[in-house]
Amino acid sequence: MPIHICCACGTSYPDAAEPPARCLICEDERQFVPRGGQVWTTPEKLAGGHVNAWRQLEGDLFEIHTHPQFGIGQRALLVRTPQGNVLWDCISSLDEATISLIRALGGMRAIAISHPHYYTCMQDWARAFDCPVHLHAADADWVMRPDRAIRYWDGETLEIAPGVTLLRLGGHFPGGSVLHWAHGAEGRGAILSGDIVQVAADLNRVSFLWSYPNMMPLSAATVRRIADTLAKWRFDRIYGAFPGRRVATDGARAVERSAARYVELLNTNQP
Ligand SMILES: [Zn+2]
Ligand SMILES: [Zn+2]
Repeated sequence: MPIHICCACGTSYPDAAEPPARCLICEDERQFVPRGGQVWTTPEKLAGGHVNAWRQLEGDLFEIHTHPQFGIGQRALLVRTPQGNVLWDCISSLDEATISLIRALGGMRAIAISHPHYYTCMQDWARAFDCPVHLHAADADWVMRPDRAIRYWDGETLEIAPGVTLLRLGGHFPGGSVLHWAHGAEGRGAILSGDIVQVAADLNRVSFLWSYPNMMPLSAATVRRIADTLAKWRFDRIYGAFPGRRVATDGARAVERSAARYVELLNTNQP
């Protein structure tokens, strides 16, 4: 029996003869059920109509993105370190070319995911590369397909490879995390932010929301806390969840400036 993948959000559900009646990720107010109802696919059908495209973003960083776009449309990022490769965030499609290319690059040491919207088919990626998936324990209830590769971490930080550290920021999800890569941006440091810190259309800004599709904000105190937590880390560049979304330089100042303006707007009575 095949596993079933929600076409709206990309989440995979356990193998069964029929797809599930509901997608709990889509029914949450941070996502949405499509107007025509939930539609499902399988890994075989997905591979039949989609390919993964690769882009090298800097020396040791690759983007993997599915074409035509599938689900939410995020990218996965492959970080190379001397101690092994790390996959940041995940996508539903794992095609043969992607497996061969990652094996040729030395396989995978670990997978880490910012929040439940990008859990997708992490179980299949973990199996293909025989590596663990690090998820924050605060979001454990959102795992729709339990797997022995999943390792829950608690607390505020977890170093998963030398110079590669997960930081829990919360906000969009209680366990919402970003990845700090000390060697990124030619050694100036980079944050891989998922949509916990969303790189905005103006590539010198970031933003923060409880629900992106339904445009619901976070509190001023939460945004202030996220900015204060990030201020303790050294970084120059921010890679967001979607292709092209990158704060190229001065990322730490972009976070501080964007957070201050967000809080100011929440506290202003606009005419
Ligand atoms: Zn869904
Ligand atoms: Zn999200």
